[in-house]
Amino acid sequence: MNLPSFWKGKIQEIDEAVSSVKRGNVKIIARSPGDKPVYLISYGKKENFKSQANYNSACGAGNPAFYAHKTASAKPVIFFVGPVHGQEMEGMVGLVNLINILETGCDLRGKEWQEIFENASKCRLLIIPCGNPDGRSRCPLDSFVGIGAKNMAHYGQGSTKDGVDYGWPGTKSRHPMVDDVGFLGAYFNDDGINIMHDDFFNPMARETKALLDTARKEAPNFIPVLHSHGSSPAVLQAAYVPFYIKEKIVKFSRQLAECYRRSGLPNNPLSDPSNDGSKYPPSAFNLTSALHHVCGGMSFTFECSHGLAEEIYAQVNHEQILDIQLLLYNELLKFALANPTCWEF
Ligand SMILES: [Zn+2]
Repeated sequence: MNLPSFWKGKIQEIDEAVSSVKRGNVKIIARSPGDKPVYLISYGKKENFKSQANYNSACGAGNPAFYAHKTASAKPVIFFVGPVHGQEMEGMVGLVNLINILETGCDLRGKEWQEIFENASKCRLLIIPCGNPDGRSRCPLDSFVGIGAKNMAHYGQGSTKDGVDYGWPGTKSRHPMVDDVGFLGAYFNDDGINIMHDDFFNPMARETKALLDTARKEAPNFIPVLHSHGSSPAVLQAAYVPFYIKEKIVKFSRQLAECYRRSGLPNNPLSDPSNDGSKYPPSAFNLTSALHHVCGGMSFTFECSHGLAEEIYAQVNHEQILDIQLLLYNELLKFALANPTCWEF
């Protein structure tokens, strides 16, 4: 497949982007079971929030300020969790382009993003370009634009020894994904762990533990967890987070949908939040939920469009997918600056 030159989301291309970082700091926060690095790139100085308790205990004491003392002038911290599902490379391409913007002011098309560049300087940005390098390495395709949904599901969710695609719910009904595995889907690391559905009180994957540790140490205000699907780009509601966080997620999803509408992109704003547990079976307490509970930040899942072939799915090309990603980051930076977190005594 002939891909545009700005479309950089292979493991080797992510390594190259990381090694080009000059203005930011690069850290390896975990090595995957397949011995690949999980990178964390940070921009902006880490402020001292004078933490004296973990988030949960601070809530027990009646004030999150015991975990992180944040005044109205504290720089927002935004933690971009790059795809943990290896075939969902759209977020990896987006974050590689974001790194280029933070380094040079322009994306890899040469397009200037002054607003991102300027607003980023008023924040601390933490970027994991790829949360599951094992899964990404296993996916032989570098884009799903014009590819059928069946192919995407095969590479993402994997197949049994008999060659039957797991699909949904099969791919989530066995975890770790071991024993009956023909092709191990890109959802999983090399140990068969789907980081989105790890055991968060006792993580099976080092990658999961490193993501939670980063959130715990950094006290991010916002945590977009990047995924992709066939439909229109969408912010998903987080399960089992406080109602005021759910309301804030809805507010942001509407701002973002309006931005996509103005840009001629498909969009899908959230409806009003509802209480968890009003219907059976219950929602999963997933990575997005867990990230909130270690730091109190607004964590949300973002689903980008793949650009799949079938017309029932959102029809977007590579340019539009990159715009979907970069506009998300731009709107989130604006939203973060307009909605500061105040945790005061
Ligand atoms: Zn996903």
